[in-house]
Amino acid sequence: MTQSTKTKSSNSQHRIVIVGGGAGGLELATRLGKSLGKQGKAKIILVDATLTHIWKPLLHEVAAGTINSFEDELNYFAHASKNYFEFHLGRMKDINRVDKRLILEPLTDETGHEIAPERSLRYDSLVIAIGSTSNDFGTPGAKENCIFLDSRAQADRFQREFLNLYLQAQARAIENPSPQDLNIAIIGAGATGVELAAELHHAAHEFTRYGLNSIDPGNVRITLIEAADRILPVLSKHTSSTATDQLVDFNIQVLTSRRVTAIHKDSVECDGDIFIPATLKVWSAGIKAPDVLKDIAGLETNRINQLVVRATLQTTRDDSIFAFGDCASFTPEGAERAVPPRAQVANQEAIVLAKILKAKLQGKPLPTFSFSDKGSLISLGETNTVGNLIGKINVQGFFARIMYLSLYRLHQVALHGVFKTGVLMFKDLLSRNSGPTLKLH
Ligand SMILES: Cc1cc2nc3c(=O)[nH]c(=O)nc-3n(C[C@H](O)[C@H](O)[C@H](O)COP(=O)(O)OP(=O)(O)OC[C@H]3O[C@@H](n4cnc5c(N)ncnc54)[C@H](O)[C@@H]3O)c2cc1C
Repeated sequence: MTQSTKTKSSNSQHRIVIVGGGAGGLELATRLGKSLGKQGKAKIILVDATLTHIWKPLLHEVAAGTINSFEDELNYFAHASKNYFEFHLGRMKDINRVDKRLILEPLTDETGHEIAPERSLRYDSLVIAIGSTSNDFGTPGAKENCIFLDSRAQADRFQREFLNLYLQAQARAIENPSPQDLNIAIIGAGATGVELAAELHHAAHEFTRYGLNSIDPGNVRITLIEAADRILPVLSKHTSSTATDQLVDFNIQVLTSRRVTAIHKDSVECDGDIFIPATLKVWSAGIKAPDVLKDIAGLETNRINQLVVRATLQTTRDDSIFAFGDCASFTPEGAERAVPPRAQVANQEAIVLAKILKAKLQGKPLPTFSFSDKGSLISLGETNTVGNLIGKINVQGFFARIMYLSLYRLHQVALHGVFKTGVLMFKDLLSRNSGPTLKLH
């Protein structure tokens, strides 16, 4: 084959561009790469704003320092080269639907220096999977004073600030060895807030083990603030009350029916002029899709910027543009609510979307997505997990813990296959038994 025929055939290949290599997007790129990409039936291109992937449900553990984000991250270039797809570093800025081009922002380094100018990628099918960010509902002071657990960078920032407070306390204790306090407030008691509270409680005990004992774990006051009348409001009452009992046992203050009205440098203000002292403040109440999607290219979006999609995961106004995961809103026929923004939804959608895109390529009728709720599990530290399976069966303890841990392993199997996941599990076991159980740098 001559050079010119080679170029012609690759130019005529169907181009599937996936934006966002998160829980859903990376699984989809890997599936399509290993099938359509490997067989030369389509060119698969993944675009992400960062160079590495970390599974988002691990972020509360990264923030608490109970896992090391460097050990659990995956490099997109390396993964793409092994799985027959192409990776581009870039942040989506817009879509030109007429010319079918995805427009990327200029690429800059940490100092703002431009590495690459604004550029665009041609697509035949475009998949948007850029996840969600926290929704602070415009609460005064939230942006300036809270940390949000939306990305690995933010979780790393929390971990450093948390560690710095212990280092500060240790330095102060040289002059004045009196008991020192640490106040932490978490706004929003959904799964993220509850799991973070439990993880921080666990980390506070671990600091003492490593000699950072100027702050006694008993003096670490963690307050979890929720506007609804119970924590985990979208889960069953049983899960909510079991988790509440466990958090109270951990000495975590659980405040419900409390609306946060403002965040200050050293406190959280609630309805009724109540001020809760807090040095570290984390916002974990509600989500929205990234602002870039608001009114993007005339596509239909809802009030939290999510792209509205049909059962084929196609956007309502453009058959060539698909969306899934947290940034999409799909309401099954006859249902009152859209499917929830969860990793298990992104995973199930990725599996079906791979089939949908293959059918599209073959000119066959498109399969449709239906959500099968496998339940929700909430991790309350190393040994405790509560929740329900298949939406009904309440579980807790060791069995629930194993089910919870298996969610991450299933994500790894989707990316690396069974053998490599086994090797990774073995590596994790070794490093957990040989290294520190808390990240101290
Ligand atoms: C602390 C925490 C704990 C959680 N625990 C659970 C749990 O136990 N179980 C569960 O089911 N769910 C859990 N979730 C929710 C779960 O993480 C999300 O539902 C899931 O990650 C959504 O997958 P996604 O592919 O839609 O988006 P994400 O996994 O968020 O990935 C989005 C990707 O898009 C990239 N991106 C963003 N904007 C752009 C842009 N403009 N251009 C290019 N790339 C972009 C990001 O870098 C990222 O890689 C948790 C979430 C958090 C924060």
